Amino acid sequence: MASPLPADLIRPQIAALPTYNAGLALDRFSDIYGIDCIAKLDSNENPLGAAPGAIAAIKSSADGIARYPDATNAALRQMIARRCGTKADRVIIGNGSEDLIGALFRATLRDGDHVVTICPSFGLHEFGAMACGASVTKVNFPDDWSFPVDGLARAMQRDTRILIFASPSNPTGPAITETDFRAVIDVTPQDTLIAFDEAYIEYVQKSAQFDALAILAECKQPWIVLRTCSKAYGLAGIRVGYGIASDERLINALMKTRNPFGVNALAVAAAIEALSDEAHLAQVVELATAERVRIAEALRAMGHESAPSQTNFVFFNTGGDASGFAESLRKKGILIKGWQEEPFRNWARVTMGSVAENDAFLAAVAELAAEA
Ligand SMILES: *Cc1c(COP(=O)(O)O)cnc(C)c1O
Repeated sequence: MASPLPADLIRPQIAALPTYNAGLALDRFSDIYGIDCIAKLDSNENPLGAAPGAIAAIKSSADGIARYPDATNAALRQMIARRCGTKADRVIIGNGSEDLIGALFRATLRDGDHVVTICPSFGLHEFGAMACGASVTKVNFPDDWSFPVDGLARAMQRDTRILIFASPSNPTGPAITETDFRAVIDVTPQDTLIAFDEAYIEYVQKSAQFDALAILAECKQPWIVLRTCSKAYGLAGIRVGYGIASDERLINALMKTRNPFGVNALAVAAAIEALSDEAHLAQVVELATAERVRIAEALRAMGHESAPSQTNFVFFNTGGDASGFAESLRKKGILIKGWQEEPFRNWARVTMGSVAENDAFLAAVAELAAEA
């Protein structure tokens, strides 16, 4: 028999957290459902995969894996600094940007600190902060899916430690306008750190793009912008994200709270190649952009409204309990994510896969409707 676990061993903030609502890995899918997955559309992964050069770089770096990687990640930081017009000491690399979100919370949050975010949101923005003892205020998206500037203004207090949100938003899809972004900065207290998560920045249509780094450079608050190689660059499995901050002292603090060798040598080699391949990126963005329009229209024709998307996914109203809807689709070999956050439990997020995968998703939704 297992030895008893002392009742107070786990910190109460951790015991109270829900388990991370992760997508289902393909081999686990087959084990559970006894069928092959036809379309894995639950984790916003890239149907075209990584740039060929990234995979070649991983293979050719394999010979060196007996050595520890460069703990300072100097080569990749310099490359990103050049691309973003900043200095390498204001850039940090993480084992995925989730690693950096955790490092940020560990470096800054004290018990009882206040964090503000938007709902529905990327789970870690809320639960990562709660794990560090913070209380989190969530501000709902309004019905028109604009970013809730007034709601954020009301939620923030003078001592709010962090405002964290993603644009384009995961799971909903819209991108904040430049005007609203400036307005959010204006209503943020001077000592509140703005953590702006741009995991889907590459998918934003030209007419909606703006340079958040340039705008933040003029603001009075501390800030960090987070980006990732997991989505448009197709490196979700090898884990690379990065952050650009207002101050190298913030970067130095995060270097202490992240795992020192968390970014492995193969990941760095792959990221450098992936970030260099603009032609591959353009293909990825073109496919996702065309498919998000097509799928939203097809869903609307079947009676499912969706939020406007500037990403590689569509957030839509299933018309009932989204978890049950997603489970019914799984039995047909289609994986999507039913949202589990009030008041969005009727909504689900479907990733834009290949045309064939998206067609399989639409066919399964139509089948479900016919069976009802
Ligand atoms: C996917 C995602 C991330 C990051 O993922 P990593 O794989 O850890 O880099 C961060 N923020 C949002 C909003 C995301 O959707």
